[in-house]
Amino acid sequence: MASRVLRIALIPGDGIGREVIPAGRRILEALPPSLGLKFEFTRLDAGYELFQAAGTSFPDRSIDVLRHECDGALFGAVSSPTRAVKGYSSPIVHIRKKLDLYANVRPVKTVATDANPIDMVIVRENTEDLYVKEERTLEDPEGGVYAEAIKRISARASSRIATMAGKIAVQRQKLRESGVASIHKSPLVTITHKSNVLSQTDGLFRSCAKEALAAQQFVDAGVAVEEQIVDSMVYKLFRQPGSYDVIVAPNLYGDILSDGAAALVGSLGLVPSANVGEGFVMGEPCHGSAPDIMGQGIANPIATLRSAALMLEFLGEEKASAKIYAAVDANLEDGKLLSPDLGGKAKTEEVVNDILKRL
Ligand code: ATP
Ligand code: MG
Repeated sequence: MASRVLRIALIPGDGIGREVIPAGRRILEALPPSLGLKFEFTRLDAGYELFQAAGTSFPDRSIDVLRHECDGALFGAVSSPTRAVKGYSSPIVHIRKKLDLYANVRPVKTVATDANPIDMVIVRENTEDLYVKEERTLEDPEGGVYAEAIKRISARASSRIATMAGKIAVQRQKLRESGVASIHKSPLVTITHKSNVLSQTDGLFRSCAKEALAAQQFVDAGVAVEEQIVDSMVYKLFRQPGSYDVIVAPNLYGDILSDGAAALVGSLGLVPSANVGEGFVMGEPCHGSAPDIMGQGIANPIATLRSAALMLEFLGEEKASAKIYAAVDANLEDGKLLSPDLGGKAKTEEVVNDILKRL
């Protein structure tokens, strides 16, 4: 059988990024040959240590490598200096901008046997909203100063993020059909906004999202669509998290919702994410460089393993990602080899070995 070659950049970054990215590589290499996948890896440096040594946190030639020589990437973490450092900017923001990775996709999931199971994915718009960072401070005629910020919402970005959410809902259905345990039976997309107050900006997001999700491809796939005002959504997210499947939100609400939702599953070490654009995907664990535990070999590799699976999902390899998700779930359900953040005693290495065995 002819195999598909996937060219993957490995970008460990700083801190525990260097301990978990090798785990991501190992799981990709351990996938059964019957899946017909081959991997070519390219290692790229990034982060604060690189900046201190070379004056850049991610060189332009590495952007070219991603753009022209890779299908996807796995990014570890970078440490952020505690105070602003002249000339330093986050490589992740740089990569997102250069490759137009306009969606941040974050699945939040417990194992299906959990007493209160959760299985949702938050799809956050990643290019606009208050993050255009156009702020200014002005003289207040009443005394003192006032400050204001631009919240920019475009029809184009709103439509494409909603289309992405619809596609993810369909994809998740395919994963369920290929055997990934789930608490949901059919796809549902929840549109998040505050259009009762912000009728123009959030109103535009809402109407574009509704229109995009009414497309025939989603109707045919049985994707149900609902909408929720962000504040009541937070309430329901904490009371009945199991009721959500796919959530689509503008940048700021998405940021807040995804950290809140991650708190529901117990450890940052479990939560993956993907930065997605047209024709490129970068998997990235949600946690940072965790300087407090680096070098001890105890970082939880699961967020990275799930990020590798998520990357494969966006590369159209549902079967391969289903295998990784299932192996991770089996390790968690068994509960004998857990890292310290989950109350266990296992080292990173032992967790990875156990999951590879279950693959
Ligand atoms: P950064 O500035 O890079 O974000 P941080 O100090 O904010 O670093 P995080 O990586 O965000 O640290 O982690 C927050 C907390 O969660 C830390 O106590 C860290 O040890 C823990 N943590 C994060 N990731 C993991 C992981 N993979 N395994 C175990 N614990 C983790
Ligand atoms: Mg952090």
